[in-house]
Amino acid sequence: MSNANNGGFLESVNRNFDKAAPFTGLHRGLLEQIKVCNSVYQMRFPVKIGSEYRVIEAYRVQHSHHRLPTKGGIRYSQKVNQEEVMALATLMTYKCAIVDVPFGGAKGGVRISPRDYTPAQLQKITRRYTTELIRKNFIGPGIDVPAPDYGTGAREMAWILDTYTTFKGGEIDAAGCVTGKPVNQSGIRGRTEATGRGVFYALKEAVSYKDDMKALGLEPGMEGKTMAIQGLGNVGYHTGLISQKEGGAKIICVAEYEGAIYNKDGIDIEKLFKHRKSTGSILDFPGAKNMKQRKEVLEVECDILVPAALEGQIRSDNADRVRAKIIAEAANGPVTADAEEILLKKGVMIIPDMYINAGGVTVSYFEWLKNLSHMRFGRMEKRFDQNTYSNLVDLIERMTGKTVGLKERTFLTRGAEEIDLVRSGLEETMVTAYQQIREIKKRRKGVEDLRTAAFINALKKIGSDYETLGIFP
Ligand code: NAD
Repeated sequence: MSNANNGGFLESVNRNFDKAAPFTGLHRGLLEQIKVCNSVYQMRFPVKIGSEYRVIEAYRVQHSHHRLPTKGGIRYSQKVNQEEVMALATLMTYKCAIVDVPFGGAKGGVRISPRDYTPAQLQKITRRYTTELIRKNFIGPGIDVPAPDYGTGAREMAWILDTYTTFKGGEIDAAGCVTGKPVNQSGIRGRTEATGRGVFYALKEAVSYKDDMKALGLEPGMEGKTMAIQGLGNVGYHTGLISQKEGGAKIICVAEYEGAIYNKDGIDIEKLFKHRKSTGSILDFPGAKNMKQRKEVLEVECDILVPAALEGQIRSDNADRVRAKIIAEAANGPVTADAEEILLKKGVMIIPDMYINAGGVTVSYFEWLKNLSHMRFGRMEKRFDQNTYSNLVDLIERMTGKTVGLKERTFLTRGAEEIDLVRSGLEETMVTAYQQIREIKKRRKGVEDLRTAAFINALKKIGSDYETLGIFP
């Protein structure tokens, strides 16, 4: 089922699986069960656009039911096809296992280019797609929980929730049927930026190891690292923005649909975003030069390359020209299995998609928990903590006879808001998962790359779930 558009995406994912499988010690039959997609729902539905009827092709794939609900984004793109959605759903299962999020993997896809439709038409398509999912029992807080992906965002998630509650009035946990919703529609603070922020936390951890950086000829730390980004959408923009603001990284190249720009002294991502909003393009950004072709971004000399658009971008025909030392796979599947072999021989460090872009599903998990508990994180303890810290500062003042300044007092006595807890939970998740993967790569003889190590970690966790569940009596 390989497809010319994405260079055999599913085949690439499964080749990586096969490379890791022998290291897991799991039974062959169990590995086969983990590998296959459990349910594939392919649909066609009509939508009236103006005076015309369009038949829309769409999918929802649940890769693994070993944990429920299943979870994964919904993609709107003209390139959507069954193999792509299956590959993306497959990656979701491993991703959730790597970051200890207790879901099975799933993914949805609607074969449309959102650019070709007005918001009202997109709403019509989204609501109809949701209705199809409800009809076949492919959505629900305990069944399958979609989220945003390429071409969708909070707006589409709000339409999904509204459609779901229209049909399932009175279901008390209905808000947990989808994540990535607007904050005022049962969403959670920090979800929009979550994938990009997760990429940043992962990178910060990865570049903190002196030995690993020495092997790449780099100094440890994010400060001053040069970065090139492909795709200034949700993931690419937030990765760039946070790496620049909080990590001190220097973004020297950015590519979008319309072209690519370069500035060796750095590009201000926030200003670039505004420039694109007002002019409709990233091109002609003050201080930067336009590049001939958008794909040149992949070949720029830099410390960190962040492909954050689509799969199959670095293939056997351009891998040799990649000059980055680290590839942070913010997108799903940007490096094909063939390209990876070439890059590993060149000594490039690839931080794999199923780990590095797991920040989105991690915060989606927090959002789902919030929906099930019907309460904002921090509501119960914030003031209690604030009062306790305040009493402590008072005591220190009395004991020392000195007064703490207002700025310090405010800082020391702060109780955690929802956004603080979300960020802290996300950082903890990304750092712990990286340490587990790095440790496997370091300790297991024959494991030479982070992707194989990440697979081993995921497969062992899923295998153990299956065994304790007694799926194979
Ligand atoms: P998005 O639609 O917000 O942004 C993608 C951007 O890439 C768009 O602006 C598009 O114009 C641009 N683009 C497309 N082709 C390009 C090309 N050839 N060169 C340069 N730019 C190009 O999508 P997103 O949500 O940021 O998703 C991007 C990738 O990250 C996808 O692979 C997705 O599966 C993955 N991902 C997303 C999330 C999430 O939470 N949104 C989570 C995990 C992984």
